[in-house]
Amino acid sequence: MKIETYYKAKAEEIHKTCPVVDTHLDLAGELVFRLRNGEENPLRDIYLPVFRKGSFDLIVSSVYLQNHELPEGGLRAALEQIVVLKEQIRKNPEFLEIRSVEDLDRCLEEHLIGIILYMEGLDCIGSDARLLTALWELGVRGASLTWSRRNLLASGCCKASECYEIRGGLSPEGFDVVREMERLGMFVDVSHLNDDGFENIRETAIRPFMATHSNSREVAFHYRNLTDTQMQILADQGGIAGLNGYVRLVSETAEEEYPDENGVYCLEKLCMHVEHMVEVMGPEHVGYGFDFCDSYTAAERMAEGQSHYADCLLNHGNVPLLTAALLQRGMDEEAVRKIVGENFVQYFRKMLPKTS
Ligand SMILES: [Zn+2]
Repeated sequence: MKIETYYKAKAEEIHKTCPVVDTHLDLAGELVFRLRNGEENPLRDIYLPVFRKGSFDLIVSSVYLQNHELPEGGLRAALEQIVVLKEQIRKNPEFLEIRSVEDLDRCLEEHLIGIILYMEGLDCIGSDARLLTALWELGVRGASLTWSRRNLLASGCCKASECYEIRGGLSPEGFDVVREMERLGMFVDVSHLNDDGFENIRETAIRPFMATHSNSREVAFHYRNLTDTQMQILADQGGIAGLNGYVRLVSETAEEEYPDENGVYCLEKLCMHVEHMVEVMGPEHVGYGFDFCDSYTAAERMAEGQSHYADCLLNHGNVPLLTAALLQRGMDEEAVRKIVGENFVQYFRKMLPKTS
């Protein structure tokens, strides 16, 4: 897709003048790998340049645990990620950990890059809802019950690299955890839950839940993506879905996708997801939640650079291209501003505690 200069400039202007948010990045885990590999300041060296290029204001960093760390090593691995992320934030004055609306306001006023901590799966607490208090005290402000696996709380849907249906909803302890999360003030994320689990969250949640990184199942059939009915439910209760840029969730023919003249993949398909999501939910309920993975994978394997395999947009620096493509395809500017970040900022203002 050829993007005209006019729309590129317009997208740059939008990114510079309104908050830009990504609600899913496995940042904490990647920083752990990079420090182990001997890198000194990966948040500054790897991420600051691309966040600035894309004019990002707010990143939701997941704490994601790998299968081999579970069950016994899960808590220690989670704590290591949290500690490392906080150390890196402290080391770099351009960043600010966001624990409250007060922090969020400061971040936007002073043009810092805010980071919200959240758990991608709560395997590290086992089935004990009381332990959530400890995570809350550490600054964790949201969680999904599980990643794409069965744990003591819920069943995930299949992994993005596979596509089959998994049935079975929340365990009794899973319901307790949702209630305790909401009592504390954490947001609930339904990305990675299976359809039965989504239904259970709908029945239980009393505050707006969201999907940090999920696309439209209608546009690309995958159990990781949301059905139109699920999206309507999500929107009706005040939630938002973040557009995922992971190629297998964007395109049903991921293997056949090649970079276009902009050097990115599936730009039109990404737009089709956003447009469909807007059609079903309205522009107030769509955001960005890219789930960039290549840099994480490279760090894990101690490889140089990126694998250029999973991420349609390669990195945060290319996100204005997507914004430009949406404008060029006819989405109005007001809707685009909401999608790039205003919606999620409003959501977090509602969900975060007023002060830390
Ligand atoms: Zn994920």
